[in-house]
Amino acid sequence: MTVKGPAVLFKRPGSGTAARSFDEAFGLVRSELERQAEGNPVFAAHLEMLDDPMLCDTVKDNILAGMSEPEALAAARDSIVSMFEHIDDEYLKARADDVRDIFGRLRAAMTGGTPGGESVIPDGHILVAEELFPSDTAGIDFKALRGILCHKGNNTSHVCIIARAKGVPIQVGADISGIKDGDTVQVDDPLAGRLQSIASKARAAGLKVYVNAANLAEIRAGMDAGAEGVGIFRTEFLFLNRSSMPSREEHETIYREALLACAGKPLTLRTMDVGGDKELPYLPVTVEDNPFLGLRGIRFSLKHQDVFLPQLEGAVDAARSVRGMHPEWFEEGSPLHLTIPMVSTAEEILQVRDILSGIAPDYRSLLELGIMIETPAAAIDAPALAVESDFFSVGTNDLTQYIMAADRCNADVAYLYDPFAPAVRKALEFTVEAAHKKGIPVGICGELASDPRATGILIDLGFDSLSLSRLEG
Ligand code: PEP
Ligand code: MG
Repeated sequence: MTVKGPAVLFKRPGSGTAARSFDEAFGLVRSELERQAEGNPVFAAHLEMLDDPMLCDTVKDNILAGMSEPEALAAARDSIVSMFEHIDDEYLKARADDVRDIFGRLRAAMTGGTPGGESVIPDGHILVAEELFPSDTAGIDFKALRGILCHKGNNTSHVCIIARAKGVPIQVGADISGIKDGDTVQVDDPLAGRLQSIASKARAAGLKVYVNAANLAEIRAGMDAGAEGVGIFRTEFLFLNRSSMPSREEHETIYREALLACAGKPLTLRTMDVGGDKELPYLPVTVEDNPFLGLRGIRFSLKHQDVFLPQLEGAVDAARSVRGMHPEWFEEGSPLHLTIPMVSTAEEILQVRDILSGIAPDYRSLLELGIMIETPAAAIDAPALAVESDFFSVGTNDLTQYIMAADRCNADVAYLYDPFAPAVRKALEFTVEAAHKKGIPVGICGELASDPRATGILIDLGFDSLSLSRLEG
């Protein structure tokens, strides 16, 4: 898919992490607008919109539903903008831009920047950036964007995953030198707009079609569009942009909502996969020489059990509470499929099982415990890991980078980062065979599942499910 439009260069507001609470940011933006409103009817109208209780209430409701403050702000912006856009009145429709402007100010103030609203992306533009990090994405108004052009990264970097989940075409590895604000630029996204045909082909072959999600809104949208479950819920994205550690209750609230949104269909909840390119601002920073080979995924969780335990407790509590409401959803096994990222040894799974037994001796009736196959060790030792797992979920984004020893975010080695390489294919074959020998299901949730060139191959390899980056009704 190719889209064209005027460029807007990305400016990272403030530190990119939550430097001010929503309430503090609100106060700051309010006083700035009060000052600007004198003698300026546009800003006076913005002040009125800011003071409309709907704005604060929507953000606060989202926070209560378990979102981090930046997530809550972004979700409130999206729902209020969409409300204006659907009004059948040209004047009111145009107010969507004012809403974006106000939310841009709030976001800038929350991330420690000035509350002047400079980070607002005008409608229909193409965002041009040298590099975008996962923590940048909460500040981007994806609805306003026509596309993204990025120099660094490749098709499975997290920003691509997020952009595609929101239906925004993205091109990475692009030469952006010399591009100025307002220049007409073009985005070529080889993967956009192909997901519906993948879903039909997979279903016709008897595979289940799941959806990938990073928040509740994406779960709801995917389920509304007919997904048979969630193939990966990347929970770390709920908690990256905040200044304090999520509590057991916060975890529980959001996972309960997620299970309810899936209505008895599988919710594959991945425990937080931090490390690599995803940092938690509320933990002391450890600089690693090789972060992608360092304290990532389950390695991080087992070392920082103060972060891991509340998540497991919240997941168990959520399953118990949903089982109380809908026992029929648990009759053929629990819909909560907990999956562990970056597993390399059977010992790691056993350690998680030990922790879960400590939290709830009956945990096996509350959840299935599976693993991501995304390290070469996990693929090669799949027969042994299958003994300790209830299911496998293959993460080809990482599996490819580790098998090919080619960084998934480095455009210079993108030619080596090839999920179709024979070495990766053999690992997939071996993993599926090991799972089926042990009688456990095996799905794929890496971006390869969303690549139309791979659908036939994945069906032939015998996968039980494909989890797509997005589904549309
Ligand atoms: C993967 O590695 O394929 C995967 C699904 O996990 P993530 O992209 O979040 O690393
Ligand atoms: Mg991964």
